[in-house]
Amino acid sequence: MKIAGILFDKDGTLLDYARSWVPVNRQLTLMAAGGDQALADHLMRVGGMDPESGVVLADSLLAAGNTAEIARGLVDAGAVLSYEDMLGTFDTLFASASEMSVPVTDLKSFFSGLKARGLKTGIASSDNERSIRALAQRFDFLRDVDYIAGYDTGYGCKPEPGMALGFCEVTGLDAGAMIVVGDNSHDMHMGRSAGAGMTIGVLTGTGTRQTLSPLADHVFDDITSLHTLLDAE
Ligand SMILES: [Mg+2]
Repeated sequence: MKIAGILFDKDGTLLDYARSWVPVNRQLTLMAAGGDQALADHLMRVGGMDPESGVVLADSLLAAGNTAEIARGLVDAGAVLSYEDMLGTFDTLFASASEMSVPVTDLKSFFSGLKARGLKTGIASSDNERSIRALAQRFDFLRDVDYIAGYDTGYGCKPEPGMALGFCEVTGLDAGAMIVVGDNSHDMHMGRSAGAGMTIGVLTGTGTRQTLSPLADHVFDDITSLHTLLDAE
């Protein structure tokens, strides 16, 4: 395989999931519960997070859902806030959460290193596009990213192939020359169904070696191992 481009998931891949999102999950379930902590704990459990330990199950609603899916799931689980109110509130919360998010490495030098290798790069996230752009600006790597797609950009949602096909279309890549990197099964499914030449799972999110191995060509501790892979080309 001749690697020409890499498409990254954001949460749990570029950002350390536990340090970035567990506090946000606590905040959004408390909002959805109208401030009732017992109900918030229930909503966390339904969403796949243990309120005591903060551990989030792989591929659960909170791990893998987009804003609309999370809002729908919490309404079904008995949330006090309406679906429409949640959509607006959560998008704002997620955008401001990017100010507190913790990257897995120095993202500015990581992306400039990929650019220096002549690779196209993109980000495909279940978060909204505004949050992804805010992250890229905060860590100063926006100019080294060729493509950004959120759930609201118009390329569809994971595990559908649309966001990965959009990356190929915008950058002129063949899907077979693309690597898709993510921490969830839906990232791997998106890559495979788009015809990606390689899928790579990383362990900085909610996925585990068990959940990712069946769908990934490689499972790495984190994205920095990509430079080792590219060096070996
Ligand atoms: Mg993720």
